[in-house]
Amino acid sequence: MTDTQQTTQPTTRPATQQSEAERALLAKVPTGLLVDGTWSQAADGATFPVVDPATGETLLEIADATPEDGVRALDAADAARSAWATTPPRQRAEVLRRAFDLLQERREDFALLMTLEMGKPLAEARGEVTYGGEFLRWFSEEAVRIGGSYGTNPEGSGRAIVTHKPVGPAYLITPWNFPLAMATRKIAPALAAGCTVVVKPAELTPLTTLLFADLLLEAGVPAGVVNVVPTTHAGPLSEPLIADPRLRKLSFTGSTPVGRTLLAQAAQNVLRTSMELGGNAPFLVFADADLDLAVEGALAAKFRNTGQACTAANRFLVHEDVAEEFARRVTARVEAMSVGRGTEDGVAIGPLIDDRAVAKAHRLVTDAVERGAVVRTGGHPVEGPGTFYAPTVLTDVQPGSDLLRDEIFGPVLAIRSFRTEGEAIAAANDTEYGLVGYAFTEDPARGQRLMERLETGMLGLNTGVVSNASAPFGGVKQSGLGREGGGEGIAEYLETMYTLTPDPFRSTEGAAR
Ligand code: NAD
Repeated sequence: MTDTQQTTQPTTRPATQQSEAERALLAKVPTGLLVDGTWSQAADGATFPVVDPATGETLLEIADATPEDGVRALDAADAARSAWATTPPRQRAEVLRRAFDLLQERREDFALLMTLEMGKPLAEARGEVTYGGEFLRWFSEEAVRIGGSYGTNPEGSGRAIVTHKPVGPAYLITPWNFPLAMATRKIAPALAAGCTVVVKPAELTPLTTLLFADLLLEAGVPAGVVNVVPTTHAGPLSEPLIADPRLRKLSFTGSTPVGRTLLAQAAQNVLRTSMELGGNAPFLVFADADLDLAVEGALAAKFRNTGQACTAANRFLVHEDVAEEFARRVTARVEAMSVGRGTEDGVAIGPLIDDRAVAKAHRLVTDAVERGAVVRTGGHPVEGPGTFYAPTVLTDVQPGSDLLRDEIFGPVLAIRSFRTEGEAIAAANDTEYGLVGYAFTEDPARGQRLMERLETGMLGLNTGVVSNASAPFGGVKQSGLGREGGGEGIAEYLETMYTLTPDPFRSTEGAAR
């Protein structure tokens, strides 16, 4: 679509009833806790509702794990630890590969379930099934390539044998924004490495993990290898697990403040940790950029998942010569975006996850406007039911505005202009975060300078999407520790062991030398 075709304002949604297909899908979702291969109720019988953010309606009531249930799950993971660690890598790989195949067969179920519990448009949910599934395929391939090395020490007096072993039971905590991919990005490498796991999905979107856990059992994951404990008591359930000496690994994806708390807890037990935390991605558009490409990249980097992605472009820094043209083109495209329940055809912008998210987006917009930003489109919540925010473009965002510092996590594209490359890089790096950056330039040398000078773990150079199962995803600074995906992803679940033996020829008088 060209920008001249875009004339309509964002539409509001009709209230939608659950369809027959939705009800049939929800009937397939397990509503218990998965511990030691068995679905059970919470120890105290408590449940909690999972709500569709597009309608405010309850989708399902599911078991609400107690701290005692969490310990039961770790008991199971510990009991299964040794058998899974010694299961031949090929067998572990084949279980993951079967899970990949089953996920492909059921892609529509998983896509719809994510749209229902999280709100993302169905087309994007299908994209997440593809992306999330790739971790199963990639790590099924990695499971059989856990190598080691054998070498002579420099003195010639010994041999060094380096091997890799599963780190042990792992506790995996996931966020609500990518309910499938954040689970597979952790579960697949853990299982490939030979670790057993306890998974705590986000309480806002646990259904996808529950359905996926059922699929894993069907794919042949033995009892106790994967345990799932949704809970509304995230802190009380997690603390005893993190303090338990049987746990050897904590992998967390979520906000930086919670990540800091968990790191402090993990320090007591000197746990291996992987932390995928918040972001504040700069999106740089230079005067020599291909503007068509930059606009497409901007829409992908900003509005995917309705702006609720750690990789979402948060600060658009655009060279002053092209800033107005860029703003005009993105505004035209954003004005045409249809807002609605993700199940409806053509919807580009789904709901935000809850009221708090809407309030936060609006607070950040209001603050920016009070400091001088101009609203080009949007700039307001959309009336319920559901928790929607109008897709928004702001220009002339002033230094000091809160949205330059905080993750917006909503459909708000905020533009500032710059004059020089040095100024742009300094502005891009002016944040405690360092997950991803995006840059659009047709000058290859400038692209390389950006690679060297941007303080981020990832860079989209002339592209607005960086995620790929084969690549090491992760951040620097307060965006995290460790990497998920790529060759690095499995290493997060492996310990390195080094064995030294004496020179085997020492007693043969050098006969064989
Ligand atoms: P959050 O930190 O509120 O919650 C994440 C998870 O931690 C949830 O499962 C939650 O129940 C759990 N949790 C909360 N408090 C806890 C505690 N005291 N102890 C143990 N667990 C606790 O984050 P969120 O709102 O679910 O997700 C959004 C955040 O996640 C954003 O900051 C986003 O940038 C980040 N994120 C990062 C990545 C990445 O790969 N770097 C990917 C997706 C999301």
